[in-house]
Amino acid sequence: MKGYIGKILIVDLTTGIFEEQKVEDEVYENLLSGVGLGAYTLYKNIPKGADPLGPDNMLGFVSGLLTGTGSVMTGRWMVVCKSPLTGGWGDSNCGGTFSPAIKQCGYDGIFFKGISVFPVYLYVDNRGAELRDASYLWGKDAVETEDILEKENWNNKKPAIAVIGTSSEKKSLISGICNDRGRIAARSGVGAVMGSKRLKAVVLAGSKPIKCHDPKTVKKYSKEFSKKIKKTNMPQIMTGRMLPLMGKALTIPKNIIPIDGIVSASMMKKWGTGFGNTMGMYNGDDPIKNWAGSVVDYDKSYYNNVNPDKVLKREYKKYHCYSCVIGCGGVCDIKGIGNGEFTHTHKPEYETVNAFGALLMNKDLESIFYINELLNRAGMDSISAGNTIAYAIECYENGLITKDDTDGLELTWGNAEAIVELVKRMIARQGFGDVLADGVKVAVKKIGEETSKYAMHAGGQEPGMHDPRMDPALGVHYSADPTPGRHTVGAFGYYNYMHLWTKVSWVPKLKLSTPKKVEFEASDRNGIITMANSCIKQILDGSGGCLFAMISGVHNWKIFEWLNAATGWDKTPDEYMIIGKRMQTLRQMFNIREGINPIDFKIKDRIAGRPPLKEGPLKGKTLPIEGMIQKHWEHFGWNPETGVPTEETIEELGLDELLNN
Ligand code: SF4
Repeated sequence: MKGYIGKILIVDLTTGIFEEQKVEDEVYENLLSGVGLGAYTLYKNIPKGADPLGPDNMLGFVSGLLTGTGSVMTGRWMVVCKSPLTGGWGDSNCGGTFSPAIKQCGYDGIFFKGISVFPVYLYVDNRGAELRDASYLWGKDAVETEDILEKENWNNKKPAIAVIGTSSEKKSLISGICNDRGRIAARSGVGAVMGSKRLKAVVLAGSKPIKCHDPKTVKKYSKEFSKKIKKTNMPQIMTGRMLPLMGKALTIPKNIIPIDGIVSASMMKKWGTGFGNTMGMYNGDDPIKNWAGSVVDYDKSYYNNVNPDKVLKREYKKYHCYSCVIGCGGVCDIKGIGNGEFTHTHKPEYETVNAFGALLMNKDLESIFYINELLNRAGMDSISAGNTIAYAIECYENGLITKDDTDGLELTWGNAEAIVELVKRMIARQGFGDVLADGVKVAVKKIGEETSKYAMHAGGQEPGMHDPRMDPALGVHYSADPTPGRHTVGAFGYYNYMHLWTKVSWVPKLKLSTPKKVEFEASDRNGIITMANSCIKQILDGSGGCLFAMISGVHNWKIFEWLNAATGWDKTPDEYMIIGKRMQTLRQMFNIREGINPIDFKIKDRIAGRPPLKEGPLKGKTLPIEGMIQKHWEHFGWNPETGVPTEETIEELGLDELLNN
C-alpha cells in the first residue's frame, strides 16, 4: 500500500501477446512513477537507434504515483516514447480522467511495442486485457471515436478512453493523443507513434482500489489546499480589460518581487490560462508575429478581440480534471461558427489563443475557437501548428514562397480565412498542408534551407508561447530539456511562485533587493535555479501533479508531504530533488544513447534576442543563452560544454546499477 501498484502491462501489437511485469520497489524509490517509471522501462527496452515510427519503439501510458491516493490536483497521465519529432526522448502529459483509470485496471503503466497489421484498440477491465478490431473507427476524429467507444463499452461504469484523431493516423509528427473529448497530450509527436502502431484507442474500465500508506494524512493536506483555493478569488471588479494594465505594471519594478503562487489560482479559476493572452502583450510574455513583433504591431485594436472576458462569454460550464479543485478548464458553445458543424469545444488555452492569435497577427477570435476544435478532433498540437503557420506566413510575406506554392492561399499576416483553410489542409495532409504537417523543421527541408531563418524550433520541436526575452530561464529549458521547446518545464516566474526555498536547503531565496537584470546573466545562481526547476518538474511528472497546482507553491500544495504519506517513505525534500535529478539525467542519457548532440536543441537566435527587438517591452533584450545552458548542465553534474552526464554523476545517482539490474 504505497500509492503505486507495482506492476506494468506490456502489449506486443505484432504478436498480440500480453505480459504483466512486476516492478521492484527500488524503481519507485529511485524514479517515482509517471515519467520516471516510463524512462526506466523505455531505456531498458528500446534498442539504440530504433526507428521512432517502427516496431521497436515503445509507447507507454503511465499514471502518476500520487494519482488516486486522495491527494488533489494529481490526475495527470504521461505518455512516453522515442520522439519522431526530435529523434530523442519523448514525453507529453494530459489531464482529464484517464490517469486514475490506468491504476484502477491494476497497473502503473501500460506499454505497447510492435505494430498491428490492422487497426486495433486495447480494452482492459478487472478481468483482463484484450485487443479488439478498430478498423471501423479508423478515419474518424478523436471526439467521434471516443463517443462510439464510450457507448459500446459503458457497462457498470463510464470507461476512460485515450484515442488518436486523423492527424495521428496520418503520422503527423506534430500530433498527440486525446482524452475527455479534446484534451491532448500534444507534444513530442506521441500521436504519430500511436498512429504508426495502428493503435486507435485505449479503453479502460477497471475498478480496482488504489491504496496508499496513510490516506488520513493525504486527505488532511488535500483539505487544507482545497480550503485555500476556495478562499482565493479575483475581486469582482477585476475585468479582462484591466489585464493589459496589469501586464504593464509588472514591467515597472526594477527588482524581483517575491509573489505567493496561490494568487495564480484566482486567475485560473476565473479565466483559465487565457488571462495571460492580453496581460502578456505588455510584459512581453506573448510571442507576436512569429517572434519578431511586439504589442506595437498587435496593438489594442487586435488584442481587445482576445480579451479573456470575450472567451468566457461562450463558456457554459467549468471543467475540472480528476481531483482538481481549481478548474481552469471550460466547455464553450461554438454553434454557428466556422462551417457550423460543431456545437461545443473545450475552452481554448492560452497557448492556442496566442499561437493562432498574436503569433499570426490574427484578431478573429471565432476563427480561433473553430481551429481549436478542428485541432482537438484531429489531435494536432496547436503550439506546433501555430508556429509552423507563422513560419509559412513569413516566408510568403517575404516572397520565399508564392501562391503557386500555397495552392492559391494568400498567406498574409492575420488572414483568418486562409489560416483556417491551411489548418484543414495540414490535418488532411493535402497539398501545401502536407508540406507543413510535420512541423517547421521538416518544412524547411521540403521548402528550402533559405527559409530556416523563419523556422522557430528547438531540436525540431516548436516552442511554447512564452518568450525567453521576458524570462530567460524559459530559454534554458526550451534548449536544455531532453524534450526541447517545452514551456511547462520551468521559468524564473514559476520559481518565484513555487517558493522552493521553503523546503529545499540548497536553492536561493528570492529577495526584494535582487535586481531583475541578474536573470540575464550566465551565473551560478541562475544555473542552480534552472536545475532546481527541472528537478521539481520531474518530481511533478513522476507524481501526476498539475503544473498549475505546483506553481501555487510547495508551501501550499504539499507534494513532498503527500509523497511521504502515500508511500510511507521518510524522505526529505532534498532527497526528492535528487530523485528529480536522477529522472532528468536518465532522460538525457536516453538522448545521448540515440546520438543527440544536446547543443543542437538550442533555441533559434531570434528567440534569444539576436538581433534584439527594436520596440515593445522586450526592446534591446538579449540573453546569453550558451553560457546559461552551460551553467545549467554544470549544476546537473553533466559536462558543461557537451551536456553529456559525467560518469561520476551517473554513478553517484546509482543509475548504472539501477539500469543493469
Ligand atoms: S488546473 Fe486545469 S489543467 Fe490543472 S488539473 Fe485543474 S482543470 Fe486540469
